Amino acid sequence: MAYKFSDQPTTQSLPPDVDLDLIAQGVRMILEGLGEDPERAGLQETPRRVAEMFVELTAGMREDPQAHVVPLPGDKHDEMVIVKDISIASLCEHHLAPFVGKCHIAYIPKDGRILGISKLARLAETFSRRLQLQERLTTDIANTLYKGLKPVGVMVVIEAEHTCMTLRGVRKSGATTVTSAVLGGFRTDPRTRAEAMALITGKQ
Ligand SMILES: [Zn+2]
Repeated sequence: MAYKFSDQPTTQSLPPDVDLDLIAQGVRMILEGLGEDPERAGLQETPRRVAEMFVELTAGMREDPQAHVVPLPGDKHDEMVIVKDISIASLCEHHLAPFVGKCHIAYIPKDGRILGISKLARLAETFSRRLQLQERLTTDIANTLYKGLKPVGVMVVIEAEHTCMTLRGVRKSGATTVTSAVLGGFRTDPRTRAEAMALITGKQ
């Protein structure tokens, strides 16, 4: 969804802490700082577009992640659940550059409490669409799931490519950063942890 500028009729739908004009002003200054002419044809709409893009990419800042952790009632399932390859796109808070990759979530239900698969994806998305560090993104997802679902254990693994690293600086194209957060039974039982990791990576 795209938010509109304050001179347009849909202003009311803007969250109070978002100031599109201010973001656009900043983008204009970046263009000027680069020695560009923000008034040339190709750039006239750029500050507004970039502002709308940043608002969209940080939409998770204005959502309650816990709201997605609503257990499905009356299920008997108590075996490990793994959802692999949830696409994530986030913004590195050090460079405001995207990092993109896959999130894998494993948990062992307790007392039959499970979560709809789409809810797991929404949880990952809510935390991704913020200014993030991959490490914090990983633990935020794991902690919220652990707290809200009260399962036996939770494991979250994220593999991502950071464009701040692969497009600039050391330019390690294709380099992937892997982070994991392990809680509860996955932490205390190495065999369960190894089983989940093997299912996630596809290696036995
Ligand atoms: Zn970065």
